[in-house]
Amino acid sequence: MKIYLDGKFVDEADAKISVFDHGLLYGDGVFEGIRLYGGNIFRLEEHLERLEYSAKAILLKLPLTRKELSEVTCETCRQNNLTDAYIRLVVTRGVGDLGLAPWLCPKPTVFVIASKITLYPQEHYDNGLAIVTVPTRRINPAALPPTIKSLNYLNNILGKIEARQFGALEAIMLNDQGYIAECTADNVFIVHKGELLTPAASQGALKGITRSAIFAIAQELGIPIREQELTRYDVWIADECFLTGSGAEVIPVVKLDGREIGSGRPGPLTQRVLEAFRRRVRIEGTRI
Ligand code: PMP
Repeated sequence: MKIYLDGKFVDEADAKISVFDHGLLYGDGVFEGIRLYGGNIFRLEEHLERLEYSAKAILLKLPLTRKELSEVTCETCRQNNLTDAYIRLVVTRGVGDLGLAPWLCPKPTVFVIASKITLYPQEHYDNGLAIVTVPTRRINPAALPPTIKSLNYLNNILGKIEARQFGALEAIMLNDQGYIAECTADNVFIVHKGELLTPAASQGALKGITRSAIFAIAQELGIPIREQELTRYDVWIADECFLTGSGAEVIPVVKLDGREIGSGRPGPLTQRVLEAFRRRVRIEGTRI
């Protein structure tokens, strides 16, 4: 596998960064998880825009322009002869000393990994996921805005561990007021009375690229959609529930904390959205 690292394509074994890199020492950096479908990168411009906003929010000056980032992302896929892949684009603060000071890190580190995707097993797309609510809360947007896709993922990781301890693959994380924020690596939608509802970023959700594609799909299909504060009660009485993410795509959820949601089977609106999403990823996108 060839990895893009600071201007060069290197073998996986040579793709190494310093122990003084602040991405490693402090989680000081930003990243994107992007998908390549049939030779097209899905919503690359949106991912790069989010990366730019994340970087700007932490006062990290990206060392590459949008066009250069786009080019190295595409070239990483080409170098590995990939047509379908999961792409990880990371920019860290770079190498500094042992203190926090980002101004002592003269050069951000940039790397791109393009590799095979591990999706949830197909049975979960067919039969739906059983998820749980975990005790670890999503970080308060006033402390660290969740709109920044930063390398600080510890609370999501704790959430993921808790989900596993409860025998689930994904988990709902609440914000500090008890409203639903999102899952550990996915956004959450419910269907209620024919309408799609999802928490706003101000509730602690990442502005997911898949989530934004769902807004476009809902419009195309004529399904009403809006952001709304959601509690677990809203999921208990929802007709359907699904999660979205670049890795997960659109996946039905049929149980929360052991309770059945709706009919206990993936619902018809979820199916329509899922099919429309799969059609869209084949035709939309940047040719590598
Ligand atoms: N929330 C979190 C915390 C995430 O890490 C992700 C991305 N993996 C998502 C939501 C989904 O966002 P996207 O659709 O952009 O992948």
